Order: sequence, then C-alpha cells, then structure tokens
Amino acid sequence: MTDKRALITGITGQDGAYLAKFLLEKGYKVFGIYRRLSTPNFWRLQYLDVFDKIELIPGELTDATSIVEAIKSSEPDEIYNLAAQSFVGASFEQPIGTGEITGLGVTRVLDALRQVNPGIKFYQASTSELYGNNCPSPQNESTPFNPSSPYAAAKLYGYSITDIYRKGYGIFACNGILFNHESPLRGLEFVTRKITNTAAKIALGIEKELKLGNMDSKRDWGYAPEYVEAMWLMLQQDEPDDFVVATNETHSVKEFVEKAFEAAGLGWQDKVMVDKKFTRPIDICLLSGDPSKAKEKLGWEPEIKFGDLVKLMVKADMERWERWQNGERFPWDAPNYPNENQILSKKSFLDRPG
Ligand code: NDP
Ligand code: GDP
Repeated sequence: MTDKRALITGITGQDGAYLAKFLLEKGYKVFGIYRRLSTPNFWRLQYLDVFDKIELIPGELTDATSIVEAIKSSEPDEIYNLAAQSFVGASFEQPIGTGEITGLGVTRVLDALRQVNPGIKFYQASTSELYGNNCPSPQNESTPFNPSSPYAAAKLYGYSITDIYRKGYGIFACNGILFNHESPLRGLEFVTRKITNTAAKIALGIEKELKLGNMDSKRDWGYAPEYVEAMWLMLQQDEPDDFVVATNETHSVKEFVEKAFEAAGLGWQDKVMVDKKFTRPIDICLLSGDPSKAKEKLGWEPEIKFGDLVKLMVKADMERWERWQNGERFPWDAPNYPNENQILSKKSFLDRPG
C-alpha cells in the first residue's frame, strides 16, 4: 500500500473511472477534476462503486486558473491528464473546441504543474490516432506520425508539448500511446459500444437495426481496465518515457459486428446497414500496435483480446437492457442517451435540400 496522492483530469470518463478504482486499490488518495454540467455525469464512478471514495474538484481544461487551484488543493504526487474531447467524429464538427481542450488543455495542465510543483509526475493520454494513414504496420514508438483528424492534430500538439516540458524543464512526463481500448463503460458513440449496445437491444426486441459508417476500417482493440495499469506503470519507472500500449491484433468493424451479433444470438446481415452519416471526411484504415517496449520495460501485457472483449461487452449490455425491461434505470448511460437520429450533424445538415 502507498500514501501517494493522484489527481485525474477526465475522471468521469471511461479511463478516469477505471484508473480511479485501480489507484484506490493501490492505497492512493484520489482526486478528480470534473466540469460542471447541467446534468451530473458520475454514472461510471457509481457503476464501479468508487464515487464515495474520491475527492472531486470542479475544473475545466479551458480555464487555467481552475487547474492551478486543483493542483494546489490536491497536492498530488502524480497527475493523469485524461480529459479531452475524445471522439474523432466530433472533432470534424468541433475542430476549434477540440484544439482548445485536447491540444492546448495539455499545456494548461503542464504549465500549472510547472508553476505549482515541477516535481509532480505527469501522464499524458496520447493515442494511436497520431499515426494516421500510410504508415508501416504494426506501429511502435519510432513510427512516424501522420495525424488525419482535428482530434489527432490536437493530440499531436499534446504529445509534443509533453516531450518539450520533459526535455525543457526536467518534468517527469510520459506519453502513453494507447491504441483503442473498450469496456462496458465506453461512451455510446464509439463504434464498439454502439454495436454491442444495439445488438443487445435488437436481441431483446427493443431496437430493429444498426446503422454504421465504414465497416472495413481495422482497429487494435484492447480492454480498458488493463490499459489504466500501463498508465500507472509508466509513472513508476526511474526515467520518464513514451510507450505504445496495444494488443498487437487488428480486426475490422465488420468482424466486430459478426462476433457481437453471434454473442447476442443473432445473425447480422439483415439488421446492419451502412449510413453515410457515420462516415468521416478522412478515416484511418488500419491501426495495429506493437507493445514490445511496454512488455520489456513495464512488464505489461494484455490478457483480454478481441474475442473475449466483444463477448464481455455484449454480456454487460444484455444484462443492462434486461434490467431496464424490468423497470430499473440507473446507474448506466444507455436509456437516457439521445437516439442518434435525433442528432443533426454538420454532414446531415449539409445534405438537406435547400
Ligand atoms: P472519455 O471521452 O470517456 O472521457 C473524457 C473525459 O474528459 C471526461 O471525463 C470528460 O468530462 C472530460 N472532459 C472533456 N472536456 C473537458 C473539459 N473541457 N474540461 C475538463 N474535462 C473535460 O475518454 P476515455 O476515458 O475513453 O479516454 C481518456 C483519454 O485517453 C482521452 O484523452 C482520450 O482522448 C485518450 N485516448 C483514449 C483511447 C480509447 O480508446 N479510449 C485511445 C487513446 C487515447 P465529461 O464527463 O464532463 O464529458
Ligand atoms: P476511433 O478509432 O477513435 O475513431 O474510434 P471509433 O470507435 O469512433 O471508430 C472506430 C472505427 O469505426 C473508425 O474507422 C470509424 O470510422 C468506424 N465506424 C464505422 N461506423 C461507425 C459508427 O457508426 N460510429 C463510429 N464511432 N465509428 C464508426
């Protein structure tokens, strides 16, 4: 056990909730920055039964003062910067906001850390989206970056400023280049959870069909609770460094659909259709990560791979919707999330006649 203190930005998100649970189990005192919303968004922390065990501090990645105050009041040994506008699709609709939060927000946290206490260790949530298209596969820490979305461009800025503060100010700062990682706590707009959630609803007669965009793109999908351990391990090393965290397997969206519908006891061909509303101006065709360095230096290896991941996510969504049919509502997000057809995207707006 430890008496260390950790501050997590983005604690209400998928990784923030799992990391909070992981650090609490290690004996950390855990603080989290959350932003004020008209409707509180603590369902993941409640779902993992950690909501009452953490200290919450209001803050915004666009507001430097709030970050400084959060660091002063929590006095952390480690900061995990997980907050971001994290959805690639939305970054094409909100490129400037994404740059402010996902890019410049990193500098606000790093510079607040530098001013308050440069001895605090820093983890930056970097991403495989940095690699973009046309790069060798599998990708490792030496593979050149070629960002292909406003999200990835903002994350490249965050990656670089982390490196600059490490080299320029001697801050113990690490980039975790994490490939896609999923779980029953993944946001519903991401393709994995969209598929498992809809497959469960179709199996229980609540939904009829699933509309997707590009089903040929391939991703390296891992299990989020295992990935937060890699974040922590990076900050326990003697020297700060950057690490790829991945499974080294790649599968297409179509394969994910096949496995998920099979797990829900369904055929998929007559229930899944392509809707161009869900395609992107640029999409990354193939991501596949080589986590050899993480294995060698951190002793980290993924245990849950594609097949098991799909099954556990479908199982969780089936159980939720069965409970929902029995009259339960919370704590999970699915029932009160807006239906995608209610959301008018820039693309569907542009597609409208007149
Ligand atoms: P989520 O989208 O689930 O969580 C994002 C978090 O950031 C939420 O807590 C959100 O708060 C918070 N946030 C957003 N905007 C702001 C803001 N302006 N000020 C303060 N907080 C804000 O992401 P994940 O947990 O999946 O990912 C964690 C990090 O890892 C992100 O930076 C993501 O880009 C990165 N990443 C994720 C990967 C993945 O596959 N999951 C892969 C590689 C990198 P709220 O709840 O209020 O919206
Ligand atoms: P990303 O890798 O961070 O962009 O994670 P996503 O889960 O959002 O998308 C993974 C891949 O699935 C991308 O290539 C998307 O274009 C593709 N995809 C296909 N249909 C959909 C869809 O309906 N929603 C989302 N989010 N992605 C889709």
